[in-house]
Amino acid sequence: MKETAVVHYDDIALKGANRGLFEQILVRNIAHKIQRGKLPLFVEKRWGRITITNNTGSLWVEEYGNILKEILAHTPGIAVFGVGVMVDPDRKEIEKGVIKVVESFSEHFETFRITTTRVDKTYPSTSQEIDRDLGALVLQRFGDTKRVKLKNPGVTIRVEILKKTAYVYIKEAGISGLPVGSSGRAVALLSGGFDSPVAAYMCATRGVEPLLMHFHAYPQTSRAAIEKVEEIAGVLGTVCGQLTLVLVPLLDAQKEIVLTAPEKLRVVLYRRLMMRVAEEWGRQHDAKAIITGESVGQVASQTLENIAAVENAVATLPVLRPLSGMHKREIINRACEIGTHDISLLPYDDTCTVFMPKRPETKARIRDVLEAEKRYDSGKLVAHMLETLEVHKL
Ligand code: ATP
Ligand code: MG
Repeated sequence: MKETAVVHYDDIALKGANRGLFEQILVRNIAHKIQRGKLPLFVEKRWGRITITNNTGSLWVEEYGNILKEILAHTPGIAVFGVGVMVDPDRKEIEKGVIKVVESFSEHFETFRITTTRVDKTYPSTSQEIDRDLGALVLQRFGDTKRVKLKNPGVTIRVEILKKTAYVYIKEAGISGLPVGSSGRAVALLSGGFDSPVAAYMCATRGVEPLLMHFHAYPQTSRAAIEKVEEIAGVLGTVCGQLTLVLVPLLDAQKEIVLTAPEKLRVVLYRRLMMRVAEEWGRQHDAKAIITGESVGQVASQTLENIAAVENAVATLPVLRPLSGMHKREIINRACEIGTHDISLLPYDDTCTVFMPKRPETKARIRDVLEAEKRYDSGKLVAHMLETLEVHKL
């Protein structure tokens, strides 16, 4: 018997010929997080699933099981996983495995069900028979604290019987989706607000590696405002694994715009510069898109007219707005689940409210915006930002 975690994936399986590559990326992402967590564990692909074991054979579940569960629960691409044991596929060994798993996780549940799958169909009992027998065994050993509940059990103990091995573990749900990196990269424009972290997260669960880019107005705004964004990036890092955060100083450009352009258009003009920097830097770093947290009509400035005026600044990369049709409450709920909500709530100054116009334009016309941009040298401002930005690997 060997302590083991088992990982199953869903969307990946749909990818046909690409399957091998997707599995490889998922293995790499899990291995990376395990390494960062300094767990002495080993990840490998085995018979259509991924297993995580300890090469030395020493016991580890007690010590690292919970840390590993946290990692697996937050890794896109994992549909179902569990921490348990690997045994020989014979009945006595499987029974020992079930007892070991129940003992290890005993304080976490009262009700349970057993769900067996036989990958090896020549195995000499049906899945239902095995479920029933193993259920009876658990009751016999732990009947004073545990009971069977087939619908909505506290835990499902999963037994998988393959030709040469069997796994027994407590089933947990992952966040599904695609492994980060399998769809390529995109620059994700990250403010300190609620929306953009959710947008970056949603794209990450569709396999996009977000290159986070934040524009700050330091020292006009505080150092704490940047630290807040770094903290948000840290939370996204627990999902994405290794992450890039680019900090871009916008203040000089903002000053230039304030001096030369119509007050009403300031915010749209800042955004257009952000888009240009994102596009330029993104192309140099192999990004295929730009992600923003805009949602149509959420605030007076996010009208279709303004969205068009901002997007007009981007020459080639597509702009993804995963929140465009979402209700604010839905976005806030997602932010709570992801763990960024309470950080976004911190009341530090927003870059775009520096030199905020009294009445920002709500229906910017591209013609006016282009006219305003003639009064300063956007190319020079973008070049200056590209020269002075800082890249952090998290
Ligand atoms: P958020 O909650 O993400 O701040 P919001 O509803 O406040 O969004 P805006 O402030 O209008 O909306 O910003 C729209 C989008 O522009 C943001 O979701 C983000 O993608 C991008 N953005 C805004 N400010 C910044 C910034 N300082 N740095 C990087 N991106 C930004
Ligand atoms: Mg904002």
